[in-house]
Amino acid sequence: MAKVPAAYQATKGSILDVNKEFYDSLTATRSERRLVATLTVPMRDGLAWVVPAGHVFRIKVIEGPQVGDFNMWNLHNPRERMWASRTRQLQAAHVSTYDRLWSTLPYLRPMATIIEDTLAGYGVDEDGGRVHDLLGTRCDPYVNRLLTGEDFDFHCHSNLVRAVQPYGLTEFDVHDVLNIFQCTGLNDDDQYFMKACPAKKGDYLEFFAEIDLLCAMSCCPGGDLSIDLWGPEARDPLETCNPLGVEIYEVDHQLLQGWSSPQPAPYKGNHGLRLQPVDWPELKKRCC
Ligand SMILES: [Zn+2]
Repeated sequence: MAKVPAAYQATKGSILDVNKEFYDSLTATRSERRLVATLTVPMRDGLAWVVPAGHVFRIKVIEGPQVGDFNMWNLHNPRERMWASRTRQLQAAHVSTYDRLWSTLPYLRPMATIIEDTLAGYGVDEDGGRVHDLLGTRCDPYVNRLLTGEDFDFHCHSNLVRAVQPYGLTEFDVHDVLNIFQCTGLNDDDQYFMKACPAKKGDYLEFFAEIDLLCAMSCCPGGDLSIDLWGPEARDPLETCNPLGVEIYEVDHQLLQGWSSPQPAPYKGNHGLRLQPVDWPELKKRCC
């Protein structure tokens, strides 16, 4: 293991310097929360839901091990959405308690903070596998067609497309995911691997919504990923597929005193661009 320090480091008092006391207060007072919605993401399907800023939501294993491919947008502006690769750099390639999911440019702010992870103790296994993966992305019917020659409509990408359609979003809004409960890593050849999901019924990953969110998740048709989807050992892993649960909670408003929704990063440089006055007569000569 390399002992080189992380490239992106939090400076004290910056937005990267997480106020753990505040997030701990949200989990310590769990019994006082008000459950406002309980949802089920069906097996091999997707679901989208809204979480107001300042609420907590939990993704939960309700039957058997199952991985969930998760997307997230600013509810009021879908151009601001989760940025998996920057989150990998600012946090880690596998996320857990106190890690934040960051939004795309030109916004770059925490959209949600993980406040509890019942799989945090999994750590790093003998193959270098870890859970809650930001390395990989969703399965999709295009790559499946290339790998198998067959069309299949219930890959995570398609499940997410159907899930967000009622909110006016399309295939082009679906983006790189957080693979919840998914165990992955890089092998000695630097290639991505997936292992069987270690989550059990009752395990959960819990988030605090930093801004108003539209969330969506697919229950991967690969189920618990114990059966290969591609390659010589591949077969339909239907028997390993399960639904996942979602719970949304309102927290005591007293706890939110002192917290405010993070603002987009305040860069105002305009990338060095300077506005040039338009020479209309000259432009007209060139165009017409
Ligand atoms: Zn999938």
